[in-house]
Amino acid sequence: MVDDLARFIDKAKEFGALDAKLIKADTIKTGAWVRMKCHFGCGHYNTSFSCPPHTPAPRETQEVIDCYGTALLVHCQQIGDPTEVVIKLEREIFLAGYYKALAYGAGPCRICEECNVQQCNHPRQSRPSMESCGIDVYATVRANGFPIAVVKDRASEQNYYGLVLIE
Ligand code: SF4
Repeated sequence: MVDDLARFIDKAKEFGALDAKLIKADTIKTGAWVRMKCHFGCGHYNTSFSCPPHTPAPRETQEVIDCYGTALLVHCQQIGDPTEVVIKLEREIFLAGYYKALAYGAGPCRICEECNVQQCNHPRQSRPSMESCGIDVYATVRANGFPIAVVKDRASEQNYYGLVLIE
């Protein structure tokens, strides 16, 4: 299965990713604290259908992850890129027969000037970020050997990630 999926690493790069890696789903970490970082201290809280409190809580996300064996972790350098790349990948992987393919992007959705927080107006173009669903992006990325550090200022190196659960 992994050999068959390796072609999606090249697809990810073709779609604009810097790199991508097939990972075991059980290396994806969730944490109750992640939701708290959205709830307190983030100006995007409750401004989008793709942000808390509208997204699944960490425990629910963990239950979802437990339904999968494999995932594709996608490395990008611009905040808007992971979501665009994983949406395209989700479709390609689904059409290849992996009917459970499920994508998570990065950062808040910025497609509409004002979000319809009750129901997404562009469901084919929007996915929630990993962090908005309670995934500990730092721990997940580090567990899989990709770079990530707290961005302290504009000069700091920036790394952003998306994810596609696959089975
Ligand atoms: S596409 Fe529009 S309606 Fe859907 S989550 Fe994004 S901003 Fe909200």
